[in-house]
Amino acid sequence: MQASAVAAWSDILCDISRAIGETRYNLWFRNTVAVSCEQSSLKVGVPSTFMAEWIETHYRDVLLEVASKRLGRSVDIAFVVEPTLFRNKRRREAAAKSELLDEAAPRQPAGLDIGRCSLDNFVVGPCNSVAYAAACKVAGNPATAYNPLFIHGGVGLGKTHLLLGIAGAIRGPRQRRGIEYVSAEAFTNRFLFALRNGTLDAFRQRYRTTKLLIIDDVHFLANKPATQEEFLNTYNTLSREGCQVVMASDSHPKLISKLKESLVTRFLSGMVVRLEKPGYDMRLQLVRHKAEQRHISLPPAVAEFVAGNVTGSVRELEGAVNTLAAYASLSGGSITTSIAREALKGLVKSHCRPVRLPEIDAAVTAYAALREGDLRSKRRTRPLARARHVAMY
Ligand code: ADP
Ligand code: MG
Repeated sequence: MQASAVAAWSDILCDISRAIGETRYNLWFRNTVAVSCEQSSLKVGVPSTFMAEWIETHYRDVLLEVASKRLGRSVDIAFVVEPTLFRNKRRREAAAKSELLDEAAPRQPAGLDIGRCSLDNFVVGPCNSVAYAAACKVAGNPATAYNPLFIHGGVGLGKTHLLLGIAGAIRGPRQRRGIEYVSAEAFTNRFLFALRNGTLDAFRQRYRTTKLLIIDDVHFLANKPATQEEFLNTYNTLSREGCQVVMASDSHPKLISKLKESLVTRFLSGMVVRLEKPGYDMRLQLVRHKAEQRHISLPPAVAEFVAGNVTGSVRELEGAVNTLAAYASLSGGSITTSIAREALKGLVKSHCRPVRLPEIDAAVTAYAALREGDLRSKRRTRPLARARHVAMY
């Protein structure tokens, strides 16, 4: 190894990491070494032929550009396989792999219990009835209607619950073997892992031969062109074979940033449903349901207090009930509204009460130095029009 080569390559690496971002840098370049540097060529060692080819096809242009800037002359870059790198890489990967496999083993999302998340114990109300009906339809007759099914909505509103509910509702050992539930993040990690280890065949075998592919948190694919491409191909294969695909995401397909147009079109080609935040009645029903599940009895006034004050997601309501359950078991007694107020201080405080129209009216009137009622008057002078715009905003 030449000192000049080492220096040149480390300069180039520095610029490359800036140019392509840390993740891709770590994936493809962290494990490389300079071998030699001549007037017009630089030789670089990489761990495997596969990596050499990948770098050649995907990063050649940026490499040559960076190198000629750094070295002040144009050089060609050649890659050779360095067996020692490969051994180091293997050792590191063996460690990484055991972690990955651990993560893969219980095929369910952290903190969610597949048994608990069934379609039967999903509380249905105006905010989720369409999504629920679609999920039931898909579970009952996969790949007939609503394919793909795309569920979107804010965090903690029940997307993962519905996905697991669909998976859990499929009966029969043969059918169950054909289900694959994976988060987009795990899909991405496994894809990159397979790329690096030359195990793409196994990866594709796994995801392209399922009867029902369920992908959670699809928004994770934003800004990941290589994984998107792989997912597109996975999707196309499954769709050709008439398999069902179900997805969940925190936003509508069109609003996922930097998502390939071809994926967006496919996501929109089936059924897109949205989960809304629950309203008061629904929250009350959820609180009662969750309390029942935890075998605690909440006096009606307490349930109403929770439903009235914890106005965020279902997950927060669930958290509130869990907290009350803990208080109940600690105090050994029943829960009163004042205990609940005390116990849920944090949750309740975090929700500001809704701002009402008269308050907006008053605030804008004061700020714009208008008279009361000006905003609602028929006059249309410029300052008034402007103040009205501010109020509308
Ligand atoms: P998301 O995936 O949308 O972030 P989750 O599916 O993880 O939300 O839901 C958060 C928690 O709320 C879970 O424990 C889930 O069981 C519960 N939950 C959400 N919606 C409902 C519902 N309609 N009925 C019963 N439990 C629900
Ligand atoms: Mg989720």
